[in-house]
Amino acid sequence: MNEKPLIRSLNHRLFVKAVREADLEKYSVDVLKKFLFKIGITNFDEVTTFSKNAREWLNSHFDAGLPKVLERLRSKDETIKLLLDCNGAKSESVLMNSRGKRTACISVQSGCKLNCVFCATGKLGFFRNLSFGEILDQVLILRGDASIDRIVVMGMGEPMDNLDEVIPALHFLTSKDGYGYSRKRITLSTVGIVPGIERLADSGVGVELAISLHAVDDNVRSAIIPMNSKYNIEDVLKASKLYASKANSKVTIEYLLLQDINNSEDDAVKLGRISRKYLMPINLIVFNPTEGIEFEPADNLERFTKIVSDNAIAVTVRRSKGKEISAACGQLVMRGA
Ligand code: SAH
Repeated sequence: MNEKPLIRSLNHRLFVKAVREADLEKYSVDVLKKFLFKIGITNFDEVTTFSKNAREWLNSHFDAGLPKVLERLRSKDETIKLLLDCNGAKSESVLMNSRGKRTACISVQSGCKLNCVFCATGKLGFFRNLSFGEILDQVLILRGDASIDRIVVMGMGEPMDNLDEVIPALHFLTSKDGYGYSRKRITLSTVGIVPGIERLADSGVGVELAISLHAVDDNVRSAIIPMNSKYNIEDVLKASKLYASKANSKVTIEYLLLQDINNSEDDAVKLGRISRKYLMPINLIVFNPTEGIEFEPADNLERFTKIVSDNAIAVTVRRSKGKEISAACGQLVMRGA
């Protein structure tokens, strides 16, 4: 057991403090991030641009080692699921392949506080927030398998509940000193926490947003997403519209279809109208059955999609990948370790 703290598990504030205490200049924060989270060094001696004193100080105070890969599963549709151990907290990440385009799905928390009734991660409860480094390590390690074209922040956890770490991670993913991804290649999915949406808009990262709406009626939404009692459908849609204009970015409405819960023809018409009113495309999600969760996938996907598309500005259907290795939406439960 290593006594020194893992630098990758430091929260952003403490990471910046560590660089200052190593007697390094402010810009060294970005240099160290690049070496750790892009190049993937595991010993501070490899940061050749730092003075010997600074490297020694860092080596004597911190461990630069990578998180442990506890499990790496690969499914027939070439989906890869990683189970990482970040200093005791487990997290899961998924790499999907769609006609040669690869999308990484990353987690921001170990577990989740939201308790949405259809989601297996919610049943686990919450362990802790991941640090910005632990979020970036998922990308670093998945990039060892293949180059990544898109990143979706849609794994375990609620990004708006961990913005102190998520925002610096997004800055690194989009900055030219970091991974340099276009902000249009990153989508963050949220249950819809209004102050978080506003803060993300103000942060300037400008990534695309996806909102887990999943219902057109507040009674239905509150029954399946507890957070709706705090921020209802209209609150969330208004905040999202402001996000779209402030961040000059696309916002998509996600709608998970659940048999006899939210899949009536009336729901489809209302959903289409919401899309047109707020100028947001709809992404219909096919439910992934998970042990212990008593919902069924809707049996009228085609008809529902047709009605939505008659009214909406655009509609797409998401069929999850990696189901046989429990890597699909709502199936991340850190099993197997
Ligand atoms: N906390 C964020 C991101 C996590 S989940 C959010 O709420 O958006 C990413 C998406 O998968 C969300 O839209 C979520 O509602 C959906 N999801 C959860 N369980 C699912 C399941 N069993 N089948 C399909 N999608 C599911």
